[in-house]
Amino acid sequence: MSLRMLARSSTSLRSMARSAIPARTIGAVRVPQVSRTAAPAARAFSSSSLRADEFENPFGPNSLYKLTEEEEMLREAVRRFAETEVQPLVAEMDEKEKMDPKIIKGLFEQGLMAIETDPELGGAGSGFLSAILVIEELAKVDPSVSVLCDVHNTLVNTVLRKYANEHLQKKYMPSLSADKLGSFCLSEPGSGSDAFAMRTSVKKSEDGQHYIINGSKMWITNSGEADFFIVFAQGDPAKGYKGISAFAVEKEMGVEIAKKESKLGIRASSTCTVNFDDVKVPVENLIGEEGKGYKIAIEILNEGRVGIGAQMVGLAQGAFDKAMAYTFERQQFGQPIAKFQGMQFQMGQIAAEIEAARLMVYNAARLKEEGRPFTKQAAMAKLISSQVAERAAGKAIEWLGGQGFTREQGVEKYWRDSKIGAIYEGTSNIQLNTIFNLTAKERGF
Ligand SMILES: Cc1cc2nc3c(=O)[nH]c(=O)nc-3n(C[C@H](O)[C@H](O)[C@H](O)COP(=O)(O)OP(=O)(O)OC[C@H]3O[C@@H](n4cnc5c(N)ncnc54)[C@H](O)[C@@H]3O)c2cc1C
Repeated sequence: MSLRMLARSSTSLRSMARSAIPARTIGAVRVPQVSRTAAPAARAFSSSSLRADEFENPFGPNSLYKLTEEEEMLREAVRRFAETEVQPLVAEMDEKEKMDPKIIKGLFEQGLMAIETDPELGGAGSGFLSAILVIEELAKVDPSVSVLCDVHNTLVNTVLRKYANEHLQKKYMPSLSADKLGSFCLSEPGSGSDAFAMRTSVKKSEDGQHYIINGSKMWITNSGEADFFIVFAQGDPAKGYKGISAFAVEKEMGVEIAKKESKLGIRASSTCTVNFDDVKVPVENLIGEEGKGYKIAIEILNEGRVGIGAQMVGLAQGAFDKAMAYTFERQQFGQPIAKFQGMQFQMGQIAAEIEAARLMVYNAARLKEEGRPFTKQAAMAKLISSQVAERAAGKAIEWLGGQGFTREQGVEKYWRDSKIGAIYEGTSNIQLNTIFNLTAKERGF
């Protein structure tokens, strides 16, 4: 059943259709539109299609598993999309190291590439946790598809939504909601963890009408398929990180996609070097103010880390589910291997670790939606969920015995894919650094 049909058959959707608020579509799920002008206090969670008093548990605070009706439906719709449309292509895409264009088209058609974007700009106008749920569900089936959706939503769209002026938003967000894929270009060959040591330069043209960008970005996710790039460049090295600005750059302005990396994991996700050779960008394409690029990058990566946390939780769950099913099928010593306590304890341990990681991710996402500080929690969520993902996927291989070591079963892929969780959007050491610094600061050190 297509997601649109699913939406039409839903009882809850019929009740939503009675709502006086105009409906919008996400993942073919028609949901009442949240008023953009409503006071934040009136919306406990920004994606809620319920009033705060309807959402709150009258007996006390909600558990982190309390989702709005919209979030529940979205999760179910994405699950079906991942299982029916993505699953059949996973092994082939991994083998060929290429994302099937059908997947990208499908993600756009399902409304999953503009989750938080204002409906007036073609998006769903949902909240951050909705994006997190989508990323998690996709990662259960394919972490490569998940990161494509994650980068486009939590980095590219969010930079425009939060920092670009109305003109730039209207210029780019409708096509980023409809069919144009975006990339986020910060890292360079010489600047990874030390991101603001970038060498990519920018200067104004003599007539003052353009910025001219020169340099190379490295490791850029989605760049093989992208038409749009958020680019960070240094305009005044003497000012250090305060010389960095962010720009909205179209591929057609002269962006060159160079070497594509051949990787251990998330192989279907393109990761390329991106070159800028006198790329002329109209002055209006400056995002925010000159010199504010570092602030944009820092703030956006805080959000992005929750997205990577969700990717890792989904990955861990996907590996666990596959492997656990196998342990009930596989017989040794005259019984399913799941009957051995030695197996049960391991599975119990991993199940508990996945639960803990998921709660950390959801908690960071809810904190963000509530407008409360979440930098420390985002760093913790990414750190722990990437560790849990690697452990879960590693154990899953072992639970399948020899079968786990083969490519055929698709479990080893989860382990290969898990390794990136400790590297991108800040390595684990960088997360530990942030966690320590904020923890010490809270204590007045
Ligand atoms: C598949 C993939 C996709 C990516 N996608 C993107 C993208 O879309 N956009 C983008 O801009 N970037 C992207 N990146 C880049 C990614 O964010 C960087 O690789 C990451 O930030 C680490 O930088 P680095 O590789 O230069 O490692 P380095 O910074 O050289 O780190 C190497 C090691 O040194 C450690 N280290 C460094 N500094 C410290 C310190 N101060 N304290 C303790 N330990 C330290 C690190 O933890 C790490 O273990 C991607 C990378 C990969 C592999």
